[in-house]
Amino acid sequence: MCVGCRGRANRTQLVRVVASSGPTGPVVEIDHRKTLPGRGAWLHPSADCVEAAVRRKALHRALRVDGITVDPDGLVASLITAGGGDQAEEQVAQDMSTP
Ligand SMILES: [Zn+2]
Repeated sequence: MCVGCRGRANRTQLVRVVASSGPTGPVVEIDHRKTLPGRGAWLHPSADCVEAAVRRKALHRALRVDGITVDPDGLVASLITAGGGDQAEEQVAQDMSTP
């Protein structure tokens, strides 16, 4: 399930993110191979889903990390790169659940 729009999707359509230790505290890291240990969260590679997840603090809850730093713009760019360009565009077009 995508933590942004809460839509169900195949894992091949989602990108996994995990909490990682950054220089100034915990940060969100893209799990490119979907194999990193620990709690993960799944997101569509779309700006709408990232913004929704950040706004609702869904990432904080899913990853169970207090004070995690989320850079929405950087995360969107990384997600779209990880999800693949064509696939990302298709996802946005199919995302009918956003109000
Ligand atoms: Zn989504």
